[in-house]
Amino acid sequence: MSFAKLTGNQRSKEILQRLLARGRINSTLIFAGPEGVGKRQFALTFAKAANCQKASADNYAADSCDECSVCRRIDSGVYSDVTVIQPDGQYIKIAQTRAMAEEVYSHPREGRQRFFIIDEADRLREEAANSLLKTLEEPPATSTITLLTSRPDALLMTIRSRAQRLNFTALSVAEMEKYLTENYPRPASDIALLARVTEGRIGQATAFDLSVYRQERRTLIEMLELLAGGENRFRLLKAAEYLGKKEREDFEKQLDLMASLLRDLFMLATGRNDDSIINIDVADRLTPLAQKVGLRRLMDWVEKLDDLRSNLRININRQVATEAALLAIGGSSR
Ligand SMILES: [Zn+2]
Repeated sequence: MSFAKLTGNQRSKEILQRLLARGRINSTLIFAGPEGVGKRQFALTFAKAANCQKASADNYAADSCDECSVCRRIDSGVYSDVTVIQPDGQYIKIAQTRAMAEEVYSHPREGRQRFFIIDEADRLREEAANSLLKTLEEPPATSTITLLTSRPDALLMTIRSRAQRLNFTALSVAEMEKYLTENYPRPASDIALLARVTEGRIGQATAFDLSVYRQERRTLIEMLELLAGGENRFRLLKAAEYLGKKEREDFEKQLDLMASLLRDLFMLATGRNDDSIINIDVADRLTPLAQKVGLRRLMDWVEKLDDLRSNLRININRQVATEAALLAIGGSSR
């Protein structure tokens, strides 16, 4: 994807294009920001623009053309002057940074500039980080090293001090909607939901299963509607049983989803109905529920959910804890 097509992180885009325009691309860069906001894509586009065949001999291209064989091969991950290094297992190991160090000092094989993109750079093992540090002391003009990380503070101070840092942020709802509409066309209600539920992280949006999400959400909304009525103890216990039987990780996901629904209900109860509502596609169903429950009870529910979460942290039986929480919530309505 070219800079023109990349959405969000405008400031980082401008900095990279300025480096290309000035021909000063041999610096070491740190791309810092949450997972899934496009750091890797920006690093690849930078590498494409620097090697794009459509550029003149004297200047780098301001953007990748995405059509020449170099751009296409970088996109496919088969261009010999662009290397992406990822953790081997849990860490980036010294063998990997040593192998990279040898490559950094050799001339580009086919293009103008070599690029080494270190993904999850905060997973450098200590000895690997020290070996990388030596490479960063005198990088040759024909190599650019980019470290991608969601935890920049976990990088050695000495590495940070040798690099230029670009901060990446999650996309706004409007940016996400634009990006999804252009690249993954689908019904507007799907795009609206996906843009919100993934919290501005493109990487998450492409792998997100909306139908599973909607199915799980439907079950939880039904449960909340039941709680709002404050009756039918039997069905509440059934619901607790259903939730309690889930595997721990799955169960925690359901609690996250429940928290996001409660948050939406809270917003709707205060009269807000804008981009801050995540489950915007079911706002019609949530609004009457929010009105029925009211602010005071919603606050109580949020508190009970927090209690449930901290109980689970100390490993109480999930089903028992959930029963207690749901009954307390159901009881609080009377
Ligand atoms: Zn090109």
